[in-house]
Amino acid sequence: MLITNGTLITWGEPNQILEGQAIYVRGDRIAEIGPQQALLARFPGEERLDAGGQFVMPGNICAHTHFYGAFARGMAIPGPAPQDFPEILKKLWWPLDKSLTEKDVRASALVMLVDAIRHGTTTLIDHHASPNAIEGSLDVIAGAVEKSGLRAVLCYEVTDRDGEEKALRGIAENVRFIERCRRESVAEGRVKATFGLHASLTLSEQTLERCRQEAPQGAGFHIHLAEHEADEYDSLAKSGARVVDRLSRHDILGPNTIVAHAVHVDAREIAELAQTQTWVTHQPRSNMNNGVGAAPVESILRAGARMCLGTDGFSHTMWEEWKAAYLLHKVWHRDPRRMPGNAVAEMGAYNNARLAEIFFDEAPLGVLTPGACADLLFVDYHPHTPLSPGNLPWHIIFGFHESMVTTTIVAGKVLMQDRHLLTLDEAAIAAQARELAPEVWQRYEGFVGRS
Ligand SMILES: [Zn+2]
Repeated sequence: MLITNGTLITWGEPNQILEGQAIYVRGDRIAEIGPQQALLARFPGEERLDAGGQFVMPGNICAHTHFYGAFARGMAIPGPAPQDFPEILKKLWWPLDKSLTEKDVRASALVMLVDAIRHGTTTLIDHHASPNAIEGSLDVIAGAVEKSGLRAVLCYEVTDRDGEEKALRGIAENVRFIERCRRESVAEGRVKATFGLHASLTLSEQTLERCRQEAPQGAGFHIHLAEHEADEYDSLAKSGARVVDRLSRHDILGPNTIVAHAVHVDAREIAELAQTQTWVTHQPRSNMNNGVGAAPVESILRAGARMCLGTDGFSHTMWEEWKAAYLLHKVWHRDPRRMPGNAVAEMGAYNNARLAEIFFDEAPLGVLTPGACADLLFVDYHPHTPLSPGNLPWHIIFGFHESMVTTTIVAGKVLMQDRHLLTLDEAAIAAQARELAPEVWQRYEGFVGRS
C-alpha cells in the first residue's frame, strides 16, 4: 500500500516533518519512505491510500489503562461522595470490578477499543481486574483486541483484598497468559503479556513473594505505586519500608516493570526508580479526578527515570492527556514555566514508544521509519501558523483534537478510514454494553455496602 499526499510527522530522533514524501507499506511494516513521484513510478500497480493533505503520523500509545472501567460511565455512587482516594477504591472500583462477568469483561474491552481506534490510540497497556471472572479473562480481552486489530499488553491485577484463594487465582491467570503469549503468536503478535499486581497496599509480603517466585523468567510487572499517601503508610506499617523500597526488596522493579502514578514518592524512591530503569507512568486526568495531587514528573524525568503517559481508563484520547499534563503542573506549582510542551512530548511520544517496544520487540514502534511497524494516523489539522518539529508539541497541545483523526492503521491494516470503523461495529457494541450495564450496576449496588 502506498500512502500518498500526506505531510509526515516522523517522531524520529530528531523529529522531522516531511512534505512531498510517500510511505510504502508492505505487510505490517513501513518498507520505505521516499519522494512521492519516485515511489509512484516504482510501484505503479500498488494500492493507494490518499491522505488528501492531512498529517500522517505514528499511532498514539497509552502506557496505562483499565478496559474494565467502561461501565463506570454515568454510574451513581450511593451515599455521600467518597472523600479521598481510598474511599473511591472502596465505594467505586472494588465493588464495580466484582460485578463483572466474563460477558461484561468482553463488552467493556470492546467499548474501550472502539474509543481507541476512533481517537487514534493504536497500542494500549491494560491492567485488568474482575475478581468474579478471573480464569480466562485475559483470553477474553485478547479476543476483543484481536477482533479490533489494535495492539495491547495485558495482565491481571493480583490482590489480597478478596482473600488468598483469589490472589492465587490471579497469579495463575498471569502466569498462564504470559506462557500462552510466549508459546504462540496471540492476535498475530499484536497481544503481549506482563504480570499484573494491583498495588502494594492490597498485597501482603507473602503474596508479593509468591508473585516473584511464580513470575516466568524475564517477565516484568505492572503495578500502581504511591497513587495516594495511603500506599506509603500501608507499606511502612507492613514492611517498615517505603513502597519503592518494599517493591525493590521483592525484586519487582526493573527495566521490564511499569509502575503507574508515583505521585507520593520521595527523593530516594525517585533515585531507585531511575537506577533500576523502571518505567513510570503519569495519568494527570486521573490524578486530578481522584484529588491525589500531582506526581513530581519533572524531578522523575531529571533523575533519569523513564516517565510515560497513560489514561488510567479515561477516554483513549492521548492528546487530552498531553493537555492535562501541560496544564496540571502549571496550576499545581502556580508557575507557568513548569511542564513545557517538549517535556510532555518526551513522555507521550518518545518514552511511550520505547516502553511499547519492550513488549513488541520485533520492530520499532511509534516512529515513521523504514522497518517500523505500520501503525499510523491521518490527522485533519490545518495549522494557521507555521508548524515545525520544534513547535509541534505546542501545536498538539493547543490545536490537535482526537476528532481530527480520520484514519487509523495498525500493522498495515486500516481499522478506520474517513472516520468509518472497519473492524468493530460501534453501534452494536454500544447497544450491547447498554443492555448489560443495568445488571452490572445492580450487582455493584449489592457489593458497594459490603466492600
Ligand atoms: Zn490505574
